[in-house]
Amino acid sequence: MVVQTIADELAARPGYGDVIPVIDPATEEQIAEFTDGGAKAVDEAVARAREAYDSGVWHAKPASERAKVLWRVADLIDERASDLAALDSANSGMPFDQAHAIMGTSAELFRYYAGWCTKLNGVAHDIQMTGGIAQLFSDMHGYTLKEPYPVVGLIYPWNGPVFNWAVKLAPALAAGCSCVVKPPEETPLSAVLLHKILDEAGVPDGVVNLVQGHGHTAGKAITEHPGVDKIAFTGSTEVGKQIVAASAGNLKRVSLELGGKSPVLIYDDADIDTAVMMAAMGIFIHSGQGCICGSRIFVQRNVFDRVVEGVAGIANGMQLGGPKEDGSHIGPLISEKQLKRVMGFIDEGKQDGVEVVTGGHRLDRRGYFVHPTVMTDVDPTMRLYQQEIFGPVVAMMPFDDDDEVIALANDSDYGLAATAWTNDVGRAHRLAKRLQAGTVTLNCQMVFDHSMPFGGYKQSGWGREFGREGIEMFLQTKTVYTKI
Ligand code: NAD
Repeated sequence: MVVQTIADELAARPGYGDVIPVIDPATEEQIAEFTDGGAKAVDEAVARAREAYDSGVWHAKPASERAKVLWRVADLIDERASDLAALDSANSGMPFDQAHAIMGTSAELFRYYAGWCTKLNGVAHDIQMTGGIAQLFSDMHGYTLKEPYPVVGLIYPWNGPVFNWAVKLAPALAAGCSCVVKPPEETPLSAVLLHKILDEAGVPDGVVNLVQGHGHTAGKAITEHPGVDKIAFTGSTEVGKQIVAASAGNLKRVSLELGGKSPVLIYDDADIDTAVMMAAMGIFIHSGQGCICGSRIFVQRNVFDRVVEGVAGIANGMQLGGPKEDGSHIGPLISEKQLKRVMGFIDEGKQDGVEVVTGGHRLDRRGYFVHPTVMTDVDPTMRLYQQEIFGPVVAMMPFDDDDEVIALANDSDYGLAATAWTNDVGRAHRLAKRLQAGTVTLNCQMVFDHSMPFGGYKQSGWGREFGREGIEMFLQTKTVYTKI
């Protein structure tokens, strides 16, 4: 019911470009359509955001009042969690329960950043100037102020639409920014309801402006716009590089959460059953469409066969299906484009002689379903080893010692996350130091906390989200000197 209501509202939104169909990836049927806002809608949104900023209606509001509004947003996300989950699961094909679980985390993110509103202070300095001019200004006082970037562009992908929206918007609003938000064109539905929630919670008009459209039209226009001061982007490394180039016009600040090719190291002294379970979930959950998915699993040689068998067994036991099908563990890939891309990597691997232990094919049914796939005999020079596949496909390789596995794990342009399973505590921490990744998990996997910074080394990104660092990205520092 809510899907049809929101689809009607989406269709009624004005736009200036192509009509974009919205497809349910579990059935390949069209469930909605909307008109691309393009550059014109971006111009209008930026103008509204600037006007709202200049009026002081949000950033000059007492911090405690801003915090209350963010807390109300969180409460309303909780209240509407079932509707939001229905929209995200219809739109992305993920099982309803998984979509629902993400709503609580998204609400908590708003509560976490509500707490930061009242804690954004600069620092005072005791200044002791030396040199000639010090004679004139001997008694000095200095301090810093933290001020928001006035207008920020927030662009995010489809793999968890409500959560990806919250990760950007909660800290941007807590910092006091005015925002132009562009949801992914594949999953535009939940953003429509979320923006009604913002209104109801009391976010003033013009502070958050929704623009729906393609990346190469509306998204690109935001990144090139001279009236946008900062871009916070989550998406592919390829588009991240385009955004860096596009932002050069007015040297807007850019933060990037990009792709990954995360390694998982399993030693023979680990709790093998737990490691197998988590390594399998860590690549197959959400059909491998997660930035931190562990798509390269390295296993100490004497337990290699056991771990491969375990991961393949879990892959074979997973039930694939759409959100309306009972008992589904994992859903489809998001689009036909992604299906072709993922199958392209698999087919290329087969031609190059990898061994497909299980999977390696799409399901013989409607929907973009790919059987969870385990590959061995993979060579590190292969594209499927080096590039992010963003599907339920894992390469598994044996190793003998620390130096070998560290070299293999770090042999990547990416550096988002890494995991090590070993009961040798000293080794675990030595590995944590040597792994080139923004997040390292030891004897656990797929974990994160709102208070802990998250982001990429190497080509996995610039900057950190979550925690204090997540809000600092939306603030600039002003230095003030006073003669007293
Ligand atoms: P994508 O880069 O194609 O698109 C992401 C967003 O950018 C979409 O909203 C899209 O419309 C927009 N976009 C596309 N081209 C643009 C352009 N030229 N200018 C401005 N905006 C543009 O990514 P995707 O395929 O939708 O998402 C999957 C990718 O996202 C994967 O690489 C994944 O690893 C990454 N991701 C990273 C994180 C993280 O936190 N590091 C989290 C989730 C997803």
